[in-house]
Amino acid sequence: MPGWTRPVSYFYPLPFLVAGTAVGSIDRERVRELLGREEARFVQAHPRSKELFERAKGSLLAGVPMNWMVAWAGPFPIFAASGRGARVKDVEGHTYVDLCLGDTGSMFGHSPKPAVDAIVRQARRGITMMLPTEDSVWVGEELARRFGLPYWQVALTATDANRFAIRLAREVTRRTKILVYRGCYHGTVDEALIDVKDGAVVTRGGNIGAPFDPSLTTKAIEFNDVAALEEALAPRDVACVLAEPAMTNAGIILPEAGYHDALRRITRATGTLLLIDETHTISAGPGGYTRAHDLAPDIVTLGKPIASGIPAAAYGISQEMADRILSRVTGEGADESGIGGTLAGNALAAAAMRATLEHVITKEAFDWMIPLAERLEAGVRDAIKAHDVPWNVVRLGARVEYRFHPVPPRNGGEAEATKDRELDRLVHLFALNRRILLTPFHNMALVSPATTERDVDRHTRVFGALARALLA
Ligand code: PMP
Repeated sequence: MPGWTRPVSYFYPLPFLVAGTAVGSIDRERVRELLGREEARFVQAHPRSKELFERAKGSLLAGVPMNWMVAWAGPFPIFAASGRGARVKDVEGHTYVDLCLGDTGSMFGHSPKPAVDAIVRQARRGITMMLPTEDSVWVGEELARRFGLPYWQVALTATDANRFAIRLAREVTRRTKILVYRGCYHGTVDEALIDVKDGAVVTRGGNIGAPFDPSLTTKAIEFNDVAALEEALAPRDVACVLAEPAMTNAGIILPEAGYHDALRRITRATGTLLLIDETHTISAGPGGYTRAHDLAPDIVTLGKPIASGIPAAAYGISQEMADRILSRVTGEGADESGIGGTLAGNALAAAAMRATLEHVITKEAFDWMIPLAERLEAGVRDAIKAHDVPWNVVRLGARVEYRFHPVPPRNGGEAEATKDRELDRLVHLFALNRRILLTPFHNMALVSPATTERDVDRHTRVFGALARALLA
């Protein structure tokens, strides 16, 4: 299937690899000067958002309904008025080309019509009844067809899907530990909110109210390190490896050739389950990275965009896991309280998932998105070359990331060590002021079925303008 069988690529600006000195070529004074200028421009252009933010501080902790909303590049967040397709409008009336797309929650466009129609229809007919609906059967069958795992459960968020999947893995294996990669993010899963310091697993810096010492539950290694994986799984005390098939939350980090084969071989050899989190890597194709690259995980988790932004998530398991778990989840004395949620699998979410899978997250959508993401990647690559700057760009299907470093990182440790927070902040602010939204926390641009070539070219022009401004 063209478009999503080869969804990844690298670009290495080789001259910088060879020279190895160009990192310092950006003048930091100039960065700070531009930051000041862009910040002033931002404040001036958003008086209404500022006013709402000031008012919100009286009732919402930190002035936002969700704490990371203050992490946008400006001194306050822009308040949204509406979103449609690949556009977001703010309360001032400015319209943005949205390359953030709700950090994947709206990856397939804001309020796609087939999903909205199904949501409105179902909202009139009962939102949540604690009973299954026919839509959920359709969803289970479709997810089985796409991901190759036969049995599915529904949750409300990808975080929950991961949490419940980990519990199933622990129950089946009778092991308590999980293994994750340094720099990972899988939602608010306590076991995965970790860092590695002097070889030991510790709570991630700034993690609020960490409930336990994560070294009790978690082993952490660097991505793309087969020897470390072998060593970590050898004691056979790990229930599952929780992995994004390509990392996306420390910026995009692609697996090296052969890494997934090794991961599957070693997990099987040690009786460890393989849990692939496709929440973000669904950007690789309608069956995620799993289908695009023929992976064979024991468990897959999905979330964010699968109901067009209505809270819904799903996790699928293999036949073998189902055989081992079924009697334990439905048998005498089984206690469902650790896995579930009253609203999980509700009728509204099931209707939204069905419409989204049937009409929105389709092969046709990817046939549009992937070439467009390639165009975005090529635009950035050409600008990097034209301005002779030591930066790189990486793509994962319909998701593109650039970094202010000569080469892409191989793992979370390298990503952290080479992160340029000042430049990251500048590019977000610079783009915002030119009506482009990039995903916060790193420099990621998502392409939706509603994104146009003009949108992508606008981003390319703005990116080039930033390079020019920095070198001026
Ligand atoms: N898995 C991955 C890979 C994620 O990036 C995220 C959130 N960014 C989650 C799970 C959790 O998603 P949610 O916040 O919707 O629960």
